[in-house]
Amino acid sequence: MGLFDRGVEIKTPEQIAGMRKAGLVVGRTLELLRASVRAGTSTAELDAIAEDSIRSSGAVPSFQGYHGFPATICTSVNDEVVHGIPGDRVIAEGDVVSIDCGAIVDGWHGDAAITVAIGDVPDEVAELMRVTEEAMWRGIAAARLGGRVTDISHAVETFVRSRGRYGILEDYTGHGIGSQMHQPPNVPNYGRPGKGPRLVEGLALAVEPMLTLGAKDVSVLEDDWTVVTDDGSWAAHFEHTFTITPRGTWALTALDGGEAALTALGVPYGGD
Ligand code: MG
Ligand code: MG
Repeated sequence: MGLFDRGVEIKTPEQIAGMRKAGLVVGRTLELLRASVRAGTSTAELDAIAEDSIRSSGAVPSFQGYHGFPATICTSVNDEVVHGIPGDRVIAEGDVVSIDCGAIVDGWHGDAAITVAIGDVPDEVAELMRVTEEAMWRGIAAARLGGRVTDISHAVETFVRSRGRYGILEDYTGHGIGSQMHQPPNVPNYGRPGKGPRLVEGLALAVEPMLTLGAKDVSVLEDDWTVVTDDGSWAAHFEHTFTITPRGTWALTALDGGEAALTALGVPYGGD
């Protein structure tokens, strides 16, 4: 367990190194899934690939049994935004599939998500994916030691609004992460900067913009998990777990630690 400062878990450098192990398992599993998903693949097949990848790495899937969730990953297709349950659904040409993955190594969590286009998708859908991924990086890049959590929120929203009229989910947010997958503080994808807990060394956060091509309004299906847009518009979701070291910013679930994306945004890379 890390130390808690007003509900926010502060990790030691050794504990952050443990989170990097979990993050790499998540990152490698997502890359394997990106390479595996194609038209004709069922979401249950993707789930089996993910579980094998995580367990063969000596890690544990963190989603299994989380509040009763019945699978290793979430697979959310087209107008499904997040929390889709893998099953019989077969991926079709032209779909977009959001895959969310979590793993635990030695008690430390990693959590990340990608959205993948299957073959050709309309330009506006491809652009939605690009905007969502860059919004995630812009949010991470806005986090500095001594800043505040909603500096991230503000950067995500500002970038999204600069790119067009997208729906930004408000009922689902990023979060603190460490010895549990979901910890304080929440990291909303909108709002004014300068609020919330201070960003300090040893804090780890998951930043995860969820954007739609339409409105922000969503509902949960009768399976009690799958979050879908009310207007049927398609959605995208990207997520990384990151921390800030004295040297810079470190995306713990990115295979390169986020070095390429952060450097491109002028942010010092803080990984090892
Ligand atoms: Mg996630
Ligand atoms: Mg998350």
